[in-house]
Parts: sequence; C-alpha cells; structure tokens
Amino acid sequence: MLINGKARQSCSALIDEMLDGGQPITLEPMSKFPVVRDLMVDRSRMFDLLIKAKAWVPIDGTHHLGLGPPEPPEAQDVRYALSRCMTCGCCLEVCPQITPLSKFIGAAAISQVRLFNMHPTGVMHARERLEALMGEGGIADCGNAQNCVHACPKEIPLTESIAAVGRQTTAYALKRLLGA
Ligand code: SF4
Ligand code: SF4
Repeated sequence: MLINGKARQSCSALIDEMLDGGQPITLEPMSKFPVVRDLMVDRSRMFDLLIKAKAWVPIDGTHHLGLGPPEPPEAQDVRYALSRCMTCGCCLEVCPQITPLSKFIGAAAISQVRLFNMHPTGVMHARERLEALMGEGGIADCGNAQNCVHACPKEIPLTESIAAVGRQTTAYALKRLLGA
C-alpha cells in the first residue's frame, strides 16, 4: 500500500518508527492496480506479466530429475538475489512507464527473465523470453528513471537486471538479423 505516499510493505512499516510529532499517517491503496476494497488491490496484472515473460522453468512430468548441473558461486549469488522477488508491485507502482493503459512489462518481470535465463535448465527457453521482451510493451519502453530499484523492499538490483536483459535482447536481435 501507499504509506505516507510511499509504496511499501505494510507488514514492515512499524507505527512507532513513523510517528512524527503526532502527524497523521496516511494509508492508501496502490494506484497502478484496480482497487478491490479499501486498501486491497488486485495484482493479477503482475502475474499476467510473469506469464508473458515465461518466468518459470518448464519440466516434463513430475518424476525426479536428479541433480542439476553445477553452478559457479557468483552465478548463485546473483540468482539468489533475483529470486527474492515477492511480486509485491512496489516497483510497478513507482514506475512512470506503468499506467492503467500502458502495456509496459515492468522491472519485476524483466528481472525474472534475467533469473530464468541464467538457470541451467531455464536457459533453453531464453529465446522465447527475449522475444516476449522485444515486442509491444517490452524492455524498450523502460525510460530508465530508476525509481524501481529504490522502491524494491527486497533490494533486488533491478536496474542491473534491466541493463543485463537489454544486452541479451540486443545480442539476440543481432543474431536473428544475421540468421544465426
Ligand atoms: S528504470 Fe524507470 S522506467 Fe524502467 S522499470 Fe524502473 S522505474 Fe520503470
Ligand atoms: S522486484 Fe522488488 S518491488 Fe518489484 S515486485 Fe519484486 S520484490 Fe516487489
């Protein structure tokens, strides 16, 4: 919700830290999502965007697949940071490119594309994710205002993700152009 006008988690907003000389504390629903009731908003848009970005690792069946390939610790550190996204919507709330009518996919889904494109199995579908980000409302619509990275309660390096995925889409577009 918006607490004193700032998008943040209500569960970590402690009243005694917010009391400011008896000034009132204002609570509002986030403005970029439809209001369900009172302070409750419908964040379905975020989950639709994750579907658009294919933000998962497809597996065939439910049988045990065994151990995955080894990953260098540096890659594990990056992926762990990205995996902490809780789809809260704060990054979309503060993004000037996100409006009720805009199709921009937003920082959270872009960052999840980076996460799953780094996954040893997920990388098999990197091309489809990049295609999704190269279409309407894709990564090119990011205005680089960087509000998202400052608003993320999980301190996810969103602008690094946007830059990394931007490089991936450029490399992929070049390869596609050259027929590789
Ligand atoms: S950098 Fe700016 S435009 Fe891009 S996703 Fe973040 S807040 Fe939105
Ligand atoms: S990237 Fe951060 S701000 Fe955006 S949805 Fe995930 S946890 Fe929330």
